[in-house]
Amino acid sequence: MGQDESRMVDKKTPPQTLKSRTLEAVAAYIKEGSARRIVVMTGAGISTSAGIPDFRSPDTGLYANLARLNLPYAEAVFDIEYFRGNPLPFYALAQELYPGKYRPTITHSFIHLLHQKGLLLKLFTQNIDCLEREAGVPGHKIVEAHGSFASQSCIDCKAPYPEDLMKKAIKEEIVPKCLRKRCDGLVKPDIVFFGEQMPADFFHNRSLPGDADLCIVMGTSLSVQPFASLPMMCGDGTPRLLINSEQVGEMGSRADDVLLLQDCDTGVRKLAEACGWLDELEALWEQTAPWARAGQPKPDKADEPEKSFDELLQDEVDKLTKEIDKNLKLTQDQHTWLENHVDNKIARIRDAEADKDPTAPLTTAQSLTSETKVDRSDPSGGGLYHVFPWLDKKSSL
Ligand SMILES: [Zn+2]
Repeated sequence: MGQDESRMVDKKTPPQTLKSRTLEAVAAYIKEGSARRIVVMTGAGISTSAGIPDFRSPDTGLYANLARLNLPYAEAVFDIEYFRGNPLPFYALAQELYPGKYRPTITHSFIHLLHQKGLLLKLFTQNIDCLEREAGVPGHKIVEAHGSFASQSCIDCKAPYPEDLMKKAIKEEIVPKCLRKRCDGLVKPDIVFFGEQMPADFFHNRSLPGDADLCIVMGTSLSVQPFASLPMMCGDGTPRLLINSEQVGEMGSRADDVLLLQDCDTGVRKLAEACGWLDELEALWEQTAPWARAGQPKPDKADEPEKSFDELLQDEVDKLTKEIDKNLKLTQDQHTWLENHVDNKIARIRDAEADKDPTAPLTTAQSLTSETKVDRSDPSGGGLYHVFPWLDKKSSL
């Protein structure tokens, strides 16, 4: 009572359950078989390296697209009352976010690996992107706290709507209507909109973290309630591991809290490696590649599976640098072409002007020529030869 939950645990306080507050100690705890009921809690941070755009960020094209749709504010796209009046902006966004467009990250595959090993008690996710499902985590192991694209229904009578028709509607950006006679309600994916209740599934499972023997929190700011209070449901001696770019919520306030402050993909690779699972994890993640899902062999230039988000970001920077270099090269090529072209032109002008008055004003063509050439140094050191060729002609007389 009255305790400051955000206070970090004193360094001198020994852990109750773990040997130490380190990743290695968490891995040892898993390897010795003490973690058999792991709860995982995730947020948008585990999907950013998949390329899922953040609709809230003003820097993304998605936001710009929404702005074009004349929304009163960005979040209106997820407002149930706004949707009733104008469902089109949501369907424009849905086409962008609909499952199938993005590949799960290795973090999603890590959760699948936990399930395969029979260690996953439940995954609580705030994400609506279904990438956990795409990675192979079965639906019954997932609590989608904010709903997802996995199912869809009528907003009035709540009747389910067929998935194949939904896919068609999303693709064609058509707003689907309820199939029940005399209903005609709008249909939308079962994503929780502002003004809607969270799924009953969330409330049914809300106390489940109390049964867990390990809690892994990844890629969430733990700023949205009631999701943010889930890690607090874990028992006092239950180790809690945070893999996130920064400390969040009250993670780090308990004796068995371990903070791994880095991007999720790098963090899960480290955890997998410490558990001796890294090869297994990489192989599992490889199965999510588009070529693997299409039943094709690995192409020569497939993305390096061992790359972290930071490395991928560096790749992007390198790619961009190459693009710029290429463009610069193009400019140089064009410049060379232009120089040759100008030289030829100058030669023609020189011939034509040879017998004319050298003091006459420049013609337009000559002016252009001089402008183009003005920065060019004369390799022969011949002064204004390249600008006023007839002067050279005259001087040679
Ligand atoms: Zn209906």
